[in-house]
Amino acid sequence: MIETYFIQVTYITAAAAFILSLKWLSHPTTARRGVRVGELGMVLAIVGTLVHHEIVSYQWILVGFVLGSAIGLPMAVWMPMTHVPQRTALSHAFGALAAALVGTAEYYLHTEELSTFTMTALSLEVVLGFLTFTGSLMAFGKLQDLVPSRPVVYKGQNVVNLSLLAVAVGIAVYLVLNPGRTELFPAVAALSLLFGVLLIIPIGGADMPTVISLLNSYAGLSAAAMGFVLDNKLLIVAGALDGSSGFILSVIMCRAMNRSFTNVLFGGFGQVRVAAGQVEQRSVRNATPEEAAQILEAAGSVIVVPGYGMAVAQAQHKVRELYDALTRRGVDVRFAIHPVAGRMPGHMNVLLAEADIPYDRLVEMEEINPDFARADVALVIGANDVTNPAARHDTTSPIYGMPILDVDKARTVMVIKRSMSPGFAGIDNELYYMDKTMMLFGDAKSFVGELLKELSGTRVGA
Ligand code: NDP
Repeated sequence: MIETYFIQVTYITAAAAFILSLKWLSHPTTARRGVRVGELGMVLAIVGTLVHHEIVSYQWILVGFVLGSAIGLPMAVWMPMTHVPQRTALSHAFGALAAALVGTAEYYLHTEELSTFTMTALSLEVVLGFLTFTGSLMAFGKLQDLVPSRPVVYKGQNVVNLSLLAVAVGIAVYLVLNPGRTELFPAVAALSLLFGVLLIIPIGGADMPTVISLLNSYAGLSAAAMGFVLDNKLLIVAGALDGSSGFILSVIMCRAMNRSFTNVLFGGFGQVRVAAGQVEQRSVRNATPEEAAQILEAAGSVIVVPGYGMAVAQAQHKVRELYDALTRRGVDVRFAIHPVAGRMPGHMNVLLAEADIPYDRLVEMEEINPDFARADVALVIGANDVTNPAARHDTTSPIYGMPILDVDKARTVMVIKRSMSPGFAGIDNELYYMDKTMMLFGDAKSFVGELLKELSGTRVGA
């Protein structure tokens, strides 16, 4: 009796913690609290589950705990921030596999006792679990360059894929009505595994983070279905939260890139596009750290636009020093945050928060865009696609329609990057050829370091 109360209390508290965690994670000022309360919820969920009297073997759980920690801990410590999308894909793969295997075990252990409702939930759990497993592994492979990241497309592909899914679902429905036909179960598992691979093959590497977010949603739904099978309310709540938040995130990402869901899933888009033949040799204005520093310290307002290059160079701490140096000179410095700058949602917020840049200095795209016209300098640090004016007017551009930061409207534009290489979309950026643009070639961290050296050579207020 006491055991049941204890489990109920820990589960309700854990469910509340998960909901609060998601709420707090949605804003940079409360995100750290969100992570901590989410962790607390997970510990409570594990403790509550471990006191269940159905627990079969604590020894095996201990083995799983040691093994999982041995893999998870080094991954968390050593995997760079820029690899978080593939790390997330791996986590979904294993989470979904766990759900699918639990469903399989439940099916074979209790075939005779499964009600139609439980069998329906179990089928959903197994189909979603297995397809998410192979789909996430493929997404991981594409992002890690273990499999070709370009979309592999052929005629009639969508018909083949959807027919395969229809067959898997058809057999699953038959099994719901005739659970005793155990020999059909492996077919459902095999077809779902195959469908996961085929679902991802036509999607290019560029769309992988959006797809991973969608797979997150599938893994969550699979876990929620598992909650119905095991009659575990916490799993239902956590799975539903995971499923819906993953879905919402994919929608937000699609909007920020001006893509539709169907376009991501069936478009065969996302390959790195180099507009061959269109790149003409135009000249750019190259400037030194000294010239740039002089303009920066004479400026009244500077908008910094961070991007993927800042993440690669790990320049955020130097950028913080630059922020301090300019602010001390009375320059108003703010940071323009594009929703898909970098390689994962919130990438820039995380990096700038790590460098303790005040949250009120980070301004979202819609809010800061009107201010570019009044800014003396737009300082682009390792961002490219999210500043490309072609997105506004070039209907042939692969990023046409994507909302961008209006960097080109600032009085002076400075761009720190190492070369004229394109960004993620693989296209040239017309911003670099404008008369008001100064190209500051170099690694983001070293170049900002050079700027700081120049600034430290001049007196504050001089
Ligand atoms: P981009 O990928 O467009 O450009 C990054 C730029 O950084 C490159 O042009 C590169 O130029 C430069 N760079 C790389 N390393 C360094 C370095 N060490 N020092 C200085 N510069 C460096 O980045 P953005 O952030 O502008 O745009 C993100 C792109 O990723 C968008 O196309 C978006 O759609 C896509 N994307 C984003 C997702 C997200 O969730 N955030 C998910 C999926 C896709 P060079 O090599 O010359 O230095």
